[in-house]
Amino acid sequence: MVSLNLDREVEQRLGDHDVRYTRGRRVVVSALAASDGPRSAAELHREIGPDLPLSSLYRSLSVLEDAGVIIPHHGARTLTRYELAEWLAGHHHHLVCVECGSVEDIEIPKKHESRVKALVQELSDGASFTPLNHALEIEGRCSKCT
Ligand SMILES: [Zn+2]
Ligand SMILES: [Zn+2]
Repeated sequence: MVSLNLDREVEQRLGDHDVRYTRGRRVVVSALAASDGPRSAAELHREIGPDLPLSSLYRSLSVLEDAGVIIPHHGARTLTRYELAEWLAGHHHHLVCVECGSVEDIEIPKKHESRVKALVQELSDGASFTPLNHALEIEGRCSKCT
């Protein structure tokens, strides 16, 4: 679930980094907040339209990434896509299509989430590792590619 105070929280975080929350950055954040999964620069450019030149889009992505507002998701086909960081977007996992390379967010019900957590803890314990977070990448074919 995307944070209700998204813009205020992003503005605050950028302020901590001495960066202004410009119109271009707002547009990128709201496009990512509205999307159902990570998006590449080209995909965002298509969605946002020519109002925001590609060069400004790239600059916004890098500023937002430096401030920890968005994080890169290295999905299929070496294409880097970005998404809002979990402190803004909420905890979720990904469905990755091996045919078309699309990546979709998936939130799993609490009772299943706690089973995943328990499994992650058990596997980590076995490797003397302290787990901080986890993300499932489920690879397969999306509904369009089946
Ligand atoms: Zn697909
Ligand atoms: Zn999880």
